[in-house]
Amino acid sequence: MIEARGLTKVYRDTTAVDGLDFRVEPGHVTGFLGPNGAGKSTTMRMILGLDRPTSGSVKVNGREYQGLVWPLHQVGALLDARAVHPGRSAYNHLRSLAAANGIARIRVDEVLETVGLTGVARKRVGGFSLGMSQRLGIAGALLGDPGVLLFDEPVNGLDPDGILWIRTLMRSLAAEGRTVLVSSHLMSEMALTADRLLIIGEGRLLADSAMNELIARH
Ligand code: ADP
Ligand code: ADP
Repeated sequence: MIEARGLTKVYRDTTAVDGLDFRVEPGHVTGFLGPNGAGKSTTMRMILGLDRPTSGSVKVNGREYQGLVWPLHQVGALLDARAVHPGRSAYNHLRSLAAANGIARIRVDEVLETVGLTGVARKRVGGFSLGMSQRLGIAGALLGDPGVLLFDEPVNGLDPDGILWIRTLMRSLAAEGRTVLVSSHLMSEMALTADRLLIIGEGRLLADSAMNELIARH
């Protein structure tokens, strides 16, 4: 569960996020829809703890940010800010992420299998396509078996099979009772993926509704 109250982020001269109030419940895929620059990434960074709110708060499972990024076993995130050393293999990247977070080595093999990278696990990630890099990022997000997952524009760079794959993955994560928040600038994508929708524009919440109610109204 994620709960934002008056969540605000002001950069120098830009109000990126402007007083957001919302809840993201477990057991659903919640879509976070808005045009580029609406404040989706900034909100996700604040949920993860990478960025501190200027005012307001965001709680994850009832607890507020304590000055640290949430551990991998609580929040997993696919945010493009995460740099991966290009000379490393996918396996070594995940292995060291696991080691740094006290996660058992067996999880590395499991998540590589889940994202379909087992066959290329020993290859340098620098040679990966965008789609493969997205899958590796998703593997990192799943590594700690977290209850809360954040996916920022996850279908970018994926081919149609990859898009279908990630949609299915997000739904099964939600069906397991996890909290899943996924951003996109495409309503067509959200309509196929999310069962709840938060719509954001210029840092403000424009709609918060079940997908079927939203579609019925328009
Ligand atoms: P979205 O993810 O919806 O595309 P962002 O959260 O990336 O939107 O950006 C929201 C606004 O905040 C934009 O105007 C963007 O230029 C600005 N912004 C984002 N990050 C920073 C930053 N680190 N410094 C200054 N402005 C930023
Ligand atoms: P460093 O490169 O400084 O060793 P890490 O790559 O281990 O840092 O990540 C720093 C912190 O960010 C970790 O403590 C971990 O909890 C968090 N983190 C890393 N990757 C993810 C991810 N995919 N999702 C959520 N949190 C992550």
